Amino acid sequence: MRKENGKFIPVIVLKGKKMKRFILFVIGISITSMCTAFKWPHGAKSAVSITADDGWWSETTEAQYLERYGWRGTFYLSGNLIDFYPQPQELLERWKAIASAGHELGNHTYSHASYCKAEEKYAVNNWKNVADDISDQEKWLWSKIYGNNPESSIKLPAHTFTMPYGIYFFGSTINTYQEKQVGVAEYAACVSLFAPGARIANFGAQNDPLKVARLRYLINSENIDKISNLDPVVTANEAIDKGIQDNTWTVLTFHTLEGDKSCGYTVTDQQYIEILDHLKSKGTDVWIAPVIEILNYIIQNTPPESWGCTINEDGSPK
Ligand SMILES: [Zn+2]
Repeated sequence: MRKENGKFIPVIVLKGKKMKRFILFVIGISITSMCTAFKWPHGAKSAVSITADDGWWSETTEAQYLERYGWRGTFYLSGNLIDFYPQPQELLERWKAIASAGHELGNHTYSHASYCKAEEKYAVNNWKNVADDISDQEKWLWSKIYGNNPESSIKLPAHTFTMPYGIYFFGSTINTYQEKQVGVAEYAACVSLFAPGARIANFGAQNDPLKVARLRYLINSENIDKISNLDPVVTANEAIDKGIQDNTWTVLTFHTLEGDKSCGYTVTDQQYIEILDHLKSKGTDVWIAPVIEILNYIIQNTPPESWGCTINEDGSPK
């Protein structure tokens, strides 16, 4: 024991092998605490975000379905699609009501970059065009949804971004491999001016929160529709169950409900409700919230030292 500031401090002198063992023990504790399971709020075992892309009419019905369960989703809008819809004003009013109800309205670029190959207004093969397209959609959300004008200094509510087609490189699928390589960095650079993160699609529904904290512009999600899945309900429900099992963030991407005009990425109303019923059956095991809310929670609750966690609890590499 030795005395310091009036208190007795125990002093243990370790030498040789004992010292080595002690150091290994301390390192072991640090590694274990770095790699323990991520803590979701209210004791939940998993987080789930229900998203939909583009802004089609039937996606406003999906928002109403979510509200019946008391949930809010994330809807990535392309202003161009809504401006040229058969009843643009009616559709716009619906989206304004959805924003007021607390759903997240995200940026999906204004043009959607030749969506269904019909719109070639923006050639998405260079940084400036993509940056302009993202910026145009920010302005569209700001003025059309939230009713602000150029004199107003009101900021948009925080929201995330998703790339057209859910792919994270620029241009069409005939772009060269080299162009695709620079795409990730360029999208993140363009988007980071407006959004703290971005969702991609078709790379699996699960997200390890520690990876999201580091790679915020590559949030995974799985397309749920009759083109992508043999059975959309089975795919979605299995993804929800896996999230609970693995303590991860499950993100599901929907498009239209059957009967709406679209490029065919649909589920029926019945299938959509079946998936929500399955989610509801998980009770407090799942925290259901928009992408922006869960992303912010992860960022705020992931200490920087855990960003480097690349080994398992038994010391083997991940
Ligand atoms: Zn889209």
